[in-house]
Amino acid sequence: MIEWIELSVKEHIDCLVVGAGFAGVVMAERLANASGKRCVVIDQREHLAGNAHDFVDDAGVLVHSYGPHYFRTNSGMVRDYLSRFTTWHPVDYQIKSYADGQFWSFPINLNTYEEMVGRPSTEEEFKSYLESVRLPIAEPANSEEVIISQVGKELYERFFEGYTLKQWKRHPKELDASVCGRIPIRTNRDDRYLREEFQALPTDGYTKLFERILDESPRVQVKLGTSLAEASKHYSWDLLVFTGAIDQYFDERCGPLPYRSLKFERESYSAEQLQQQGREKIAGKPGFWQPAMQVNYPGKDIEFTRIVEIKHATGQAVSATSISREFPAGFEETNEPYYPVPTPESAAIYRRYKMLAEAETSTVFLGRLATYRYYNMDQVVAMALKKFDLQVQGGFDRR
Ligand SMILES: Cc1cc2nc3c(=O)[nH]c(=O)nc-3n(C[C@H](O)[C@H](O)[C@H](O)COP(=O)(O)OP(=O)(O)OC[C@H]3O[C@@H](n4cnc5c(N)ncnc54)[C@H](O)[C@@H]3O)c2cc1C
Repeated sequence: MIEWIELSVKEHIDCLVVGAGFAGVVMAERLANASGKRCVVIDQREHLAGNAHDFVDDAGVLVHSYGPHYFRTNSGMVRDYLSRFTTWHPVDYQIKSYADGQFWSFPINLNTYEEMVGRPSTEEEFKSYLESVRLPIAEPANSEEVIISQVGKELYERFFEGYTLKQWKRHPKELDASVCGRIPIRTNRDDRYLREEFQALPTDGYTKLFERILDESPRVQVKLGTSLAEASKHYSWDLLVFTGAIDQYFDERCGPLPYRSLKFERESYSAEQLQQQGREKIAGKPGFWQPAMQVNYPGKDIEFTRIVEIKHATGQAVSATSISREFPAGFEETNEPYYPVPTPESAAIYRRYKMLAEAETSTVFLGRLATYRYYNMDQVVAMALKKFDLQVQGGFDRR
């Protein structure tokens, strides 16, 4: 915890940045190193890196604290920017789905179809199967329609319906088409989970990447375990960069925005334990617990949605391994707003907050929570870099 010295007058700084995730730290780095501003970055958590935080657990395994964070991007700008602070470990993110008592190749591809029919097949045969089962919906209006219009009911029910219901506690029919539409469906053997051209993890992890950004930004000071309310007692500033939840910033004046959350259950296994449990047969190689980095559990009778064994992706050379089961949860159970809920009702509430935000002339709202939208890490980095170039730098120069 930070020990505050009682000041009779508040210390004046150029910028207070709320949130030490990608949005806040990238913006602070730019403000400090490109505009010469003095920034204080605060976070109510006791660590850097926001939801991208990772750490070495008691078994010596590098794990992601808030669910797996698969870095990928099509943006040369984002890649070049982050490469100033890290080297990369290329990853082919592999996932599987476990349903009806077996592991399936996932996202859906020709291998999945062969597993379904129990014999070798061809792309042409798979395409004509899909043609025969898919429902012709020209403009899918929700997450159920977007999947059924591509693969029909059987594959939708096996892989998507239960998973989505558990994750969002809402039927896919009630959710925007983009929720399930993010997942690729292919008729060839390409079983990569993600579509982006650059897929890699920071070689030494995300937290180290953040530490390097800050090492190279001497005008940025960080205070962890500090909320905006606490920092307001000690600082005044010219510019506030806010990357927390927008409804909290405005004291829920327009009503609370809904969020989905998660609970994580972690387990570690030594090499001996893996051997005793005969895990090599299931994982396909020694030192691992399951056959892929991520296995989805779409069954409605199983409470968790996925098990992640991030060592598959980090390539860390340790004999032990760690897994994490993910249980969807309500925001009220954890107080951690992981996912904005994309429904027409929440979009209407957000629009009201957005109008309030636009009237705040010395506050910049940035990142996933402040814009109430699920963004990947690269999109948040791009948002911070663009916002700095277009809005913040110009605004400061005019002062
Ligand atoms: C389970 C999960 C899995 C994900 N997987 C991926 C993935 O595989 N690939 C990918 O690219 N992206 C992934 N993401 C998205 C990724 O986490 C975000 O894109 C990224 O973290 C957004 O950065 P941010 O800075 O906007 O927000 P955050 O990382 O959430 O940082 C915001 C910070 O602000 C702090 N804060 C909030 N309010 C206050 C306050 N009032 N006072 C002080 N501090 C405050 C919070 O404690 C938090 O640390 C995932 C997200 C989740 C939840």
